[in-house]
Amino acid sequence: MRYCTNCLNVSSRPNIAFAKSGLCYPCENYQSESEINWGERKQKLQEIIQFAKSNNQSGYDCIVGVSGGKDSTRQALHIKEHFGLKPLLVSMNYPPDQISQRGVDNLSNLIAKGFDCINISCSPVTWKNAMRHAFIHYGNWAKATEFALFASVPRVAVGYQIPLIWWGESAASSLGEMGVLGSYAGDGNRLKYSNTLGGGNVDWLTAGGFEIKNILQYIYPSDKDMARAKIKIVFMDYFMKDFSAYANGNYAALRGLSVRKANPYLDPDYFGTSMLDEDFININMYVRYLKFGFGRASDIVNIEIRSGRMSRDEGIDLVERFDGNYDPSLVEKFCSFIDISLDEFWRVVDGYINRELFEKVGPGKYQPKFKVGIGI
Ligand SMILES: [Zn+2]
Repeated sequence: MRYCTNCLNVSSRPNIAFAKSGLCYPCENYQSESEINWGERKQKLQEIIQFAKSNNQSGYDCIVGVSGGKDSTRQALHIKEHFGLKPLLVSMNYPPDQISQRGVDNLSNLIAKGFDCINISCSPVTWKNAMRHAFIHYGNWAKATEFALFASVPRVAVGYQIPLIWWGESAASSLGEMGVLGSYAGDGNRLKYSNTLGGGNVDWLTAGGFEIKNILQYIYPSDKDMARAKIKIVFMDYFMKDFSAYANGNYAALRGLSVRKANPYLDPDYFGTSMLDEDFININMYVRYLKFGFGRASDIVNIEIRSGRMSRDEGIDLVERFDGNYDPSLVEKFCSFIDISLDEFWRVVDGYINRELFEKVGPGKYQPKFKVGIGI
């Protein structure tokens, strides 16, 4: 495992690409705001807005997938106020015993600003079973819920014939997830080809005993259906200045967003502003850290370093202190939610540890063998 020579992106991240220079893809292709040709992007944006207005068959120009969090709040308001488009919001809700009160409040806060919103709720029975299946067989419970989340928006777009979908940031330009890279950095039509979604194929669920009739909301529309409905998916960060966790968090907090009280010794998201609508993500990020050697602090730090707000050394310090932290009290809640024992939880986690990167030093305790910023 090696590190990008500019930020702290790691070569063990799935679907990452490194240039010969030693830079990760996002750093290699990074342009500061003064280097970006905004005139060209504005022109492209005008074409997209025109495309949406002229292909609008339902009255809605576009869809924004929302949780009510910082990114979706900023997106929805910006699209309405600055792009002059009529958006329909689509929210895939967590089950009542998973969604946080903070998540409920934030979604209500956003809708109250004057939006139509379709809320989709999947059967909690299938939802929990799919989470358990994804956790046991992939070490990633969110694989199941991300299928439902990312499928929900294009499913509504196809159903309502709404031609344009906005998502926030491109995982290719912000994280280096090359699977989703489209014809240009703002093109999101390859979104379903991320490492987690793997093209939207649900064979892994049917092979696990899930009947198609029970997982309809997890099925991403086919390329043919998307093409027939002429759907364009676009990443907002390409068209907006200063679209970052930091800026969006500030923007949304000033407009009523309720955030977590940051406690980086239990949760590496030291801003306390991401993934606010439920809390089990904390465990998922910890398992991801043990699989690949990078946690939630790395994700934030990399963007901060690239933007010039933080030095690489400051980033190393934060990542060393916070990346491997998690909240043990959530593990028990998670086990009870997906109905497994604590022993089974740690047995599953043990099976996913990257032994080249970590040494087991006790039950549920792992020591990194790598040095942050240097590698192994
Ligand atoms: Zn980098």
